Amino acid sequence: MIAIIRPGVEKTKIDALCDWLSGRGLGVHVTVGEFQTIIGLIGDTTGLDIGLLEGLDIVERVQRVSEPFKSANRKFHPDDTVIDVGGVKLGGGNFAMIAGPCSVESRDQILEVARSVKKSGASFLRGGAFKPRTSPYDFQGLAAEGIELLLEAKRETGLPIVTEIMSAHHLPLFENVDVIQVGARNIQNFELLKELGHIRKPILLKRGIAGTLKELLMSAEYVMSGGNENVILCERGIRSYETATRNTLDLSAVPVLHELSHLPVVVDPSHATGVARLVRPMALAAAAAGADGLMIEVHNDPKNALCDGAQSLTPEQFEDVAHRVREIRSIIHD
Ligand code: PEP
Ligand code: MN
Repeated sequence: MIAIIRPGVEKTKIDALCDWLSGRGLGVHVTVGEFQTIIGLIGDTTGLDIGLLEGLDIVERVQRVSEPFKSANRKFHPDDTVIDVGGVKLGGGNFAMIAGPCSVESRDQILEVARSVKKSGASFLRGGAFKPRTSPYDFQGLAAEGIELLLEAKRETGLPIVTEIMSAHHLPLFENVDVIQVGARNIQNFELLKELGHIRKPILLKRGIAGTLKELLMSAEYVMSGGNENVILCERGIRSYETATRNTLDLSAVPVLHELSHLPVVVDPSHATGVARLVRPMALAAAAAGADGLMIEVHNDPKNALCDGAQSLTPEQFEDVAHRVREIRSIIHD
């Protein structure tokens, strides 16, 4: 349920109402927008007298919210959320390119890729240090050393880093990581999501392999209900009966998530297609569909990559995609 406050009401009166609601055992989430303040009520509102609430002179309207996600819901928070990582912004009209290899493989590799994607206009560097591989015999990532190498690339290029966490036990290693990714396989690891709710770093949540958008939003809710509101949603394709591509990119996820939620939405055309030559058209389509950013795998030597070489762009291909994406964005924003 949400209570929309009349414009111009003093903060002390809003605080008093919040205290009264909290006293009734409800969680209270206040959103101060440019024009309106909204109080979101979290928990069982069945015992609350709506008529009483609506009758208060500071309340304009009370509305029931039927969706089970509250904090991520646009009804609670009409303005777009902007994620700000030391001045690098994502969401609310700020478009971000997140680029880098699937996995951090060596010092030379990550530094070379970081320098090239930075030159092409990327605003974040990605790279996996802990890799969720289907086979335990495949390269599992460089773990702590991989994070150290990403931090070195950050120091040199200034690019904030995005890297995946697989276990809450590893959280101390992520202290200097800018954005923590939760991958498609861990997106319903609710204990991990709860732990990430206790920190304040931005969390990028990738849609589950067979996950619905509602399930993705409920995963966001796990993080946000713990107090961490810095969440980025990522569409990375879902498994379908189609075999021509690694996954099926659901581009309608972009406008649907924007309707349902105020959180920024990023598209990953690399994992969505699994084929490097398909990354460019899907990246352009995602930009045209209104994505707030793209996550693209780039490798300095895709043929010899230890993970996901087939879908990785060369630095030259990324340069071209980044340029074309900027063109598309300038058209849709005209
Ligand atoms: C990744 O980004 O490297 C990754 C493993 O992605 P996903 O979880 O979407 O498969
Ligand atoms: Mn990958």
